[in-house]
Amino acid sequence: MKLVLATGNKGKLREFKQMCQDEVVAFSDLLGEFEVIEDGDTFAANALIKARTIYEKLGDDYLVIADDSGISLPVLGGTPGIYSARYAGENATDKDNLYKLIEAVKQKGLKSTPAYYTAAIAIVSKYGEYVVHGWMYGEVIDEARGDKGFGYDPVFIPAGFDKTLGELDDDVKSAISHRGKALALAKPIINMLRTK
Ligand code: IMP
Repeated sequence: MKLVLATGNKGKLREFKQMCQDEVVAFSDLLGEFEVIEDGDTFAANALIKARTIYEKLGDDYLVIADDSGISLPVLGGTPGIYSARYAGENATDKDNLYKLIEAVKQKGLKSTPAYYTAAIAIVSKYGEYVVHGWMYGEVIDEARGDKGFGYDPVFIPAGFDKTLGELDDDVKSAISHRGKALALAKPIINMLRTK
């Protein structure tokens, strides 16, 4: 079975390619670009929607993995959460979302505040559906630092570090990230399904 990643997000794709020894192909290389409506109300539901949509188009020879992820700030009632990609509006860029989050933190009169990233990874194949989760805890600060990573990384300092993910190398992030942790749980499932 061929491994296909159901994401159009270049940052996620780069991280998956770095973390997977196996060859992982982006769905858009096989099907072209199209939008999947993510109208679930949890990370898991949205990851499953993405994986199922691509699996239904590709068929039985494929094992499709999808990631739905985002950042949550308890001080903001858990937002942006599942709306992280469109926090600043439907067509918002990563930068728009990042600066909206900085403004929200500043409006609370804070220089930094606890936050966490969540990643749900869904795996869909002819053998059925699986979902695993990973989390990364830390702080969001009121200014962007560094240009590594993607999305909200320039404002996120992981617990135990004094630099943002924008300043830390990709391999440091992969070892501690929500996506890295979820992928560590997903890998044995993927290997089991591929060798069936
Ligand atoms: P999704 O593609 O619908 O799962 O949206 C995920 C959004 O959450 C991205 O657009 C980013 O804004 C944010 N996000 C998820 N994971 C990360 C990460 O590892 N670093 C920075 N931002 C992330």
